[in-house]
Amino acid sequence: MIKFYNTLTRRKEEFKPLEENKVKMYACGITVSGNAHIGHLYQAMIYDIIRKVFVKNGFEVTYARNYTDIDDKIIAKANEMGVDSHKYAQEMIEKINDEMSYFQVDEPDIWLKATENIGNIINFIEKLIKKGYAYPTKNGDVYFSVEKFHKYGALSNRNLEDAKNGYRIDNDEEKVNPLDFALWKSAKEGEPFWISPWGKGRPGWHIECSTMNMQAFGEQIDIHGGGRDLIFPHHENEIAQTEALTGKQFSKYWIHNGLIKVEGQKMSKSLGNTITLEELKEKYHPEVVKFALLQNSYRSDINITEANFKQAEKHINNFYQVFAEIESKFDINQENFEEKFQKDVFDAMNDDFNTPKALSYLFEIFKIMQKKIDDNDESVVRDYLGVKKAYKDLGLFVNNSKEVLDFIKQKNKDEIPQDIINLAQKRWQAKKDRDFALADSLRGELLEKGYVVKDSKDGFEIEKI
Ligand SMILES: [Zn+2]
Repeated sequence: MIKFYNTLTRRKEEFKPLEENKVKMYACGITVSGNAHIGHLYQAMIYDIIRKVFVKNGFEVTYARNYTDIDDKIIAKANEMGVDSHKYAQEMIEKINDEMSYFQVDEPDIWLKATENIGNIINFIEKLIKKGYAYPTKNGDVYFSVEKFHKYGALSNRNLEDAKNGYRIDNDEEKVNPLDFALWKSAKEGEPFWISPWGKGRPGWHIECSTMNMQAFGEQIDIHGGGRDLIFPHHENEIAQTEALTGKQFSKYWIHNGLIKVEGQKMSKSLGNTITLEELKEKYHPEVVKFALLQNSYRSDINITEANFKQAEKHINNFYQVFAEIESKFDINQENFEEKFQKDVFDAMNDDFNTPKALSYLFEIFKIMQKKIDDNDESVVRDYLGVKKAYKDLGLFVNNSKEVLDFIKQKNKDEIPQDIINLAQKRWQAKKDRDFALADSLRGELLEKGYVVKDSKDGFEIEKI
């Protein structure tokens, strides 16, 4: 039995699929207007793991994600760079796919792109107009009329009046209600466009997800996911569009992941504290990143600090050192594995995808394994195989031990702080000046700070202990 928090009902519920044994799951993907950042990675990782939890429970899962490959920001960015917006978006998608695969996040079963669904989007809008839920304006825009949809606000738990107050409203005179949102936007001079019954234009953001869901799954899905910042207005609007059209409940369950903060602050372009995947790749092994992120509950906000990552790196390094020792001392080609770990992880994950609980067992497990190694107890191999199996779906312990250890060593070698380098240079000079007392005391100082210097004929090397 899988239980998890449903944003729609605001409580933890037992999962009951629409169709026996099947899960139709959709998660909102990335708008490719720039480099992907750690928030994008986190979101993709969470839904990949959630998918695996359902698979583990024996469900047949179809998981779809979209790329928003046309929108105002993409057009602005492409114009700024003087390139075609479609080409720019496709290149970004390829780059982001590569980065996701570097971080070992598996692809969804179905990829959807807005620009490949323009005809379907136009059809969807036409039907909404016919049913009286949407109206075109003389500028060639089409709006959804929120007042016509009586359940508007149910997901975000607000009524229309609250929504008006809590939302920045652009005062387009042609809107009937200021909260009405665009389904279709007329093209301005120089913007890319598609021909529609309302003239040249492009789809609004919300309608993409409703249409692509319909394309991938039909009228209803089991689970819709996304970042918590999407609840209003994006997901509220998706519900309004789809349910206005079908008269049926769109998604039975809504899952929302928490957002990323960096050193206590909201991550944003304007603050300049965005951690891109490019940067992250340079610094940390994928498993270090996963371990750091998954120690938080997926529903709470995560505060990213350099110290968190360093701590996670230390743990992953220790875990893999234990693995490496087992691999060198024992024959690991065995069938038997410890099943208890699987059960513990399975139970934790089936209860609202509790990754911090699942990870918390590791410290004790590795302590026991270390002791067994010291005692030359061969049953450690069972634990070794069991832990690998149990944590595979969380994306942990899926790499070669030596490679992980070398990676971490290499990264840290590059990261010797300047004051340490200065001290080591001073020591080298003292040695050349034959001031051995000073050289020794500097070596001691370095050791105290956690670094060891190794001399060779033509210089020295600094290593972190
Ligand atoms: Zn969406």
